[in-house]
Amino acid sequence: MIEAEHATRVVDAHLRIIASGSGGNLSILTLHRLGLPPRHVCIDLGIGPRTLARRLDEHAPDVRFEDIAAVLVTHPDGDHLRSTWRRTLDATEWPVYAAPSHHAALAAMAAPPRLLRPLADGGREITILPGVITATTALAPHDDHGSTAIRLRVRTTRGDLRIGWATDVGRPTEELRSLLSDCEILGVESNYDAALQAASPRPPFLKARITGGHGHLSNVQALDLVRSLATRTTPDRVVLLHLSRECNDPDLVRDLWGAHDATLARRMHVAEQDRPIGPFDLFDRRPVEAAVGDEGGF
Ligand SMILES: [Zn+2]
Repeated sequence: MIEAEHATRVVDAHLRIIASGSGGNLSILTLHRLGLPPRHVCIDLGIGPRTLARRLDEHAPDVRFEDIAAVLVTHPDGDHLRSTWRRTLDATEWPVYAAPSHHAALAAMAAPPRLLRPLADGGREITILPGVITATTALAPHDDHGSTAIRLRVRTTRGDLRIGWATDVGRPTEELRSLLSDCEILGVESNYDAALQAASPRPPFLKARITGGHGHLSNVQALDLVRSLATRTTPDRVVLLHLSRECNDPDLVRDLWGAHDATLARRMHVAEQDRPIGPFDLFDRRPVEAAVGDEGGF
């Protein structure tokens, strides 16, 4: 059975962003293989288990906790691993992949140490599910610990599917650009609008922390990053993550993208804090052109 699982390629893949923003981040990649139960990989557990269960009940009843195969945690902040997960993680035995430099902090927050697995190996690929999905990472600047940008490679019946993920990444470094190149699917944070940030009542130290290269990407930085990646391979879909409630506005983001790159704008979706978006069919190689305005919502 185990060998059959490993030898069986993915025939269908979906992505849902269950929650995104400073109130909590959680996304689910679902992989289908013929004759086998689906396998879900969570990226971050920044909303608690009860909130997740409620959102799945309401929006994604096909996602069951028992089919979750692994969890990837980008970095040890409470909006990416909520402390209320400890008991559930203990009971489920899901492996929790994270950068080794984050393990101690994640263990103190919620992750039982025996479940922690390294999500970085000097630039080499880490196997998440043997024969099915691997990850390569780069540690991006973000506050004290940094944040793990991830490139997933899914082995499918149509060849490899590459998914790039970059949230809380401080600034677009060369390492980040090279990690995310040639991805069909991109999840990139677009945290703030620079003018709204500057005009906000936030204290200067906080503004400096967010915008100073060790905080978050602005809307313009996110667009520039994706456009520079798209010069080689135009991604099929781009999901913009972690929008600030206080210093951003989805309409501003859509206007910005529409004004600079109509093709990418049609392939772009804005994730939300309180409502899941997706499921996005990752095998759909000509997405949204025929469905402008469709957020892929439920
Ligand atoms: Zn965050």
